[in-house]
Amino acid sequence: MDRRKFVGAAGLAGAAGLLSACTKPGNSQPACEEAGGGETFEWKMVTSWPRDFPGLGTGANRLAESINRLSNGRLKVKVYGGNELVPAFEVFDAVRQRTAEMGHSASYYWKGKAPEAQFFAGIPFGLTPQELHGWIYYGGGLELWREVYAPHGIVPFLVGNSGPQMGGWFNREINSIADIQGLKMRIPGLGGEILRRAGGTPTNIPGAELFTALQTGTIDATEWVGPYNDLAFGLFRAAKYYYYPGWHEPGTALECLVNQQAYESLPEDLQEIVRVACQAAVLDMWSDITYNNGIALKKLVEEHGVELRRFPAEVLDHLGNISEDLMREMAAESELMGRIHASFQAYGEIVKPWTEISDRTLLNLRPDG
Ligand code: CA
Repeated sequence: MDRRKFVGAAGLAGAAGLLSACTKPGNSQPACEEAGGGETFEWKMVTSWPRDFPGLGTGANRLAESINRLSNGRLKVKVYGGNELVPAFEVFDAVRQRTAEMGHSASYYWKGKAPEAQFFAGIPFGLTPQELHGWIYYGGGLELWREVYAPHGIVPFLVGNSGPQMGGWFNREINSIADIQGLKMRIPGLGGEILRRAGGTPTNIPGAELFTALQTGTIDATEWVGPYNDLAFGLFRAAKYYYYPGWHEPGTALECLVNQQAYESLPEDLQEIVRVACQAAVLDMWSDITYNNGIALKKLVEEHGVELRRFPAEVLDHLGNISEDLMREMAAESELMGRIHASFQAYGEIVKPWTEISDRTLLNLRPDG
């Protein structure tokens, strides 16, 4: 036997032994640093989505897989579907308390805990996905988001985008503002508050419970995401009309939450892997959902006979006006809220004129179909 090969193999086996000896669940201490920097970390990622749910759950799975591979197994992330380790809407608390080191969710679910968080998921009648990404990465949004989560000991990362959402599934027609009166609808975040001010009754329930709530009449309407995700829940079997556009969510950002102590206990290269893997996941999820929305929309209309309806202009104008009033009021609620509002307003003034002459012009020029 070639002696060098033998020594190499023994060395590798020794290194593997060190790695496993240094692995411990929730490892936050560089306990094995003296053993050659080979310490490994095992993290839990809790999510607000059913396990393997198309786009959202699968996006979380791919993020975990990326981190595992990029770190060569030094940071292993295990994904839990909503309600597997903690309920879907307790992701924020689970990461804050370090029940899990990582979470995959949407920031508008936390309005009761951090009202300012809602703005980072998106703004009704507001920024498109690419505009929102520009604000978060380059326009000061991420720094403000971190400031909002810092008192909770959580570090937020942008981790995906649903693209423009649909208006939702309705069991009654919406022909005028009067039809919103008394409408019981599942709609979270800022959109829910706008619906409430328009005379409706918003509720928020986890995605997995939508079908039953709609079918049993507990709610009259629900929004979820778009064709791809809505088809997966079979919502077309529980409602007559599928309304567009998703005025309340023109491009919703998903978030990765990381427990700050857990994050700070990582060596710098693993911190960078988490950051870059999250950034790559944004494009991955956005692309997945864009492509599959097209396929699912065709299926919903052609195979399931779904009736598409556009919200009347009168209704959209009314909701848009309420939204502007709400934004102004919220901006006055706290100094931090005011700074966040001022930041995306100033950003919008810079970027929207560019979107007007680029995206809008080109979309209007595009032949139908
Ligand atoms: Ca939604």
